[in-house]
Amino acid sequence: MSDRVSVTKLCKQYEAGGEARRILADVSFDVAAGQSLAIMGPSGTGKSTLLNIIGTLDTPTSGTVDVFGVNPFSLPEKQLASFRNGTIGFIFQAHHLLPQCSILENVLIPSLIAPPAPNAKETPHARAVRLIERVGLTSRMNARPGQLSGGECQRAAVVRSLINAPRVVLADEPTGSLDRSSAETIGTLLSDLRREENVALIVVTHAETLAARMDRTMTLRDGALV
Ligand code: ADP
Ligand code: MG
Repeated sequence: MSDRVSVTKLCKQYEAGGEARRILADVSFDVAAGQSLAIMGPSGTGKSTLLNIIGTLDTPTSGTVDVFGVNPFSLPEKQLASFRNGTIGFIFQAHHLLPQCSILENVLIPSLIAPPAPNAKETPHARAVRLIERVGLTSRMNARPGQLSGGECQRAAVVRSLINAPRVVLADEPTGSLDRSSAETIGTLLSDLRREENVALIVVTHAETLAARMDRTMTLRDGALV
């Protein structure tokens, strides 16, 4: 049983006009539980593609992904969906909260799709209330996203990513739409929560200040991490 997410010799190419275009070339790294990695690099270099492959939303052309001892691409589709929902938390640049649902309802949505692990220490509701308090949104719990600021909505999205007690959190430019002060808050929360919740955190970002909060920074350039 591995205590980390490992990527080994990952390659991804797309066919474009009969020509193969190589996006990722032999990318290898690993991130242990409680550790964090920032991935930087110019637009269009494959950062989102890399996160999507680790998140099992896309498949590699070759190479392996090992998520805490599981090769997700060996799982049948139905099992893969439940593995993804229970093991991997996602945060995007846009918060993608449902406007008609309260903050509490929004953060609970991933827990409705999969039942909590039998050994879970708390109910999804108790976990939601605790994490909402942790990110300072208790007084906004019954408000709708439209009544919150962008930074507050992204804090709710952080809670939603953690609701199923994932082993890995993948964040794709999580502060890309935020003002500097909200971005600082999200950076602090991400860095602190991955320790508190013992998740492996991988953050794609253009923000030096956010990258500096992570344990390591790697840059994707010409398909390779340097
Ligand atoms: P980044 O997140 O670093 O800006 P992306 O991972 O989104 O980069 O994209 C990397 C490159 O792969 C881009 O040139 C993009 O056009 C290309 N790409 C991404 N997805 C596809 C796809 N489904 N089919 C073909 N090309 C794609
Ligand atoms: Mg991207």
